[in-house]
Amino acid sequence: MSVLEIKDLHATVETPEGTKEILKGVNLTLRSGETHAIMGPNGSGKSTLAYSLAGHPKYEITSGEVLLDGEDVLEMSVDERAKAGLFLAMQYPVEVPGVTVSNFLRTAKTAVAGEAPKLREWVKDVNSAMEKLRMDPQFAQRNVNEGFSGGEKKRHEILQMELLRPKIAILDETDSGLDVDALRVVSEGVNRVKEESDLGVMLITHYTRILKYIKPDFVHVFVNGRVAEEGGPELAERLEAEGYDRFLTA
Ligand code: ADP
Ligand code: MG
Ligand code: MG
Repeated sequence: MSVLEIKDLHATVETPEGTKEILKGVNLTLRSGETHAIMGPNGSGKSTLAYSLAGHPKYEITSGEVLLDGEDVLEMSVDERAKAGLFLAMQYPVEVPGVTVSNFLRTAKTAVAGEAPKLREWVKDVNSAMEKLRMDPQFAQRNVNEGFSGGEKKRHEILQMELLRPKIAILDETDSGLDVDALRVVSEGVNRVKEESDLGVMLITHYTRILKYIKPDFVHVFVNGRVAEEGGPELAERLEAEGYDRFLTA
């Protein structure tokens, strides 16, 4: 049982116009087995929250706390965060030229687990995970994210999650750019990991579409750098009907 606690988190980014505060006091607690949807208009700071939790150097945390099972996440390096059980699927995954999916996954697993997985078992796990995500086995020999389609990038993220088995996964717009079939496969992958390992999920999304496949327990509306309203799944339905207007004009 794990718990991620975000307390009054403030973060800034350097822009050509100067230092800009993007996160303005985020409070959120997420436990194993729970799915939290973070929904909000474009530019509200959702990705900044994800990057801040991942330890991206561009974002400076100016105040607040992030604790994973009581441990100070903000004091951890990016590697230590992954080792502690945090997983981030980025909105815009980067290319890793010259590194195959197969090598990348094995290196990541070794780093997170602290030792290299046994080869035969590992090959079996990778093949089985790829099959469940309906990925061509040859995909493992391609370079990470090089020429990947939107759907392939997202499948690759979920494949990582399936093999790394984090405690908490932060999925930033995993639904963007997916057609209905890919969305279903990716969602099934998330649900499978949730069931098998009691994963806690922070599902960041602009649209309610993915919530038909991955059912949230809690919905947080993110506006202007903080959580403006919280509720259960019914809040997502209300957003679907009404959009974000009432938050933006208030
Ligand atoms: P969302 O994911 O909700 O669309 P973002 O976190 O991407 O929002 O962006 C929030 C705000 O912060 C936007 O106004 C965006 O332009 C700004 N921002 C985010 N990252 C940077 C950056 N690296 N440099 C300059 N501005 C940034
Ligand atoms: Mg955006
Ligand atoms: Mg974003």
